[in-house]
Amino acid sequence: MRMILLGPPGAGKGTQAQRLMDTYGIVQLSTGDMLRAAVAAGTEVGLRAKSVMEAGALVSDDIVVGIISDRVDEADCKNGFILDGFPRTLAQAEALEAMLTEKALRLDAVVEMQVDDGLLVDRITGRYTCANCGAGYHDKNLQPKVAGICDNCGRTEFNRRADDNAETVVSRLKAYHEQTAPLLPFYRDKGILKTVDGMADIDEVTRQMKALLGAG
Ligand code: ADP
Ligand code: ADP
Ligand code: ZN
Repeated sequence: MRMILLGPPGAGKGTQAQRLMDTYGIVQLSTGDMLRAAVAAGTEVGLRAKSVMEAGALVSDDIVVGIISDRVDEADCKNGFILDGFPRTLAQAEALEAMLTEKALRLDAVVEMQVDDGLLVDRITGRYTCANCGAGYHDKNLQPKVAGICDNCGRTEFNRRADDNAETVVSRLKAYHEQTAPLLPFYRDKGILKTVDGMADIDEVTRQMKALLGAG
């Protein structure tokens, strides 16, 4: 299965991608995670992306298309992948089409996660992840079973993203509405767009996705 999760920052793309990976035996490809890794490693891409990400703007199409194109050639993508946070512009969507055609691969589904802007600020400012395994949590919506201890790996250190603050969220939402929302009609016209209610609780969103995508 090859699919795209499409939705605004904080919609729950990463949360659902983690669950779908296990169900369908496919990998999550998050350009945000890859860019943050490049920033942390201080690579050339990281140096170019850092200030753009901190401002809540979009990194250039060339950079992210290059990253994804290399990544889908790796062995673990053979069974398929979930694109999380890519494509984010029409130019990226068109580059993806060309890339998949060249590799003789096909997209099975694009799933839109609908969430009102009003909910997203709280989702983003309450988000944190385990510093060791990357498991995602939320101050109110998804707390570890034992406070301060990761459910998944038992460690006690957590991270918050530099761009997950109330000011940057405004720019990120603007970028979504201006540059990413045009992908909805693009994929609707191709007949592969499906929509779930991203405002439902986490388990219910997963249920809706599996119902749309089939048992796997
Ligand atoms: P969220 O899941 O909250 O939408 P991401 O982790 O996907 O955030 O992205 C964080 C930041 O990384 C974005 O605000 C943007 O600066 C950059 N980024 C990630 N993916 C892309 C992309 N496909 N195109 C351009 N910039 C991107
Ligand atoms: P995205 O990858 O789209 O930016 P995340 O999956 O990181 O979004 O989710 C953002 C925050 O909201 C996380 O802290 C997550 O635990 C929480 N969250 C995700 N889905 C839901 C949901 N359906 N209801 C409530 N909170 C959610
Ligand atoms: Zn952990």
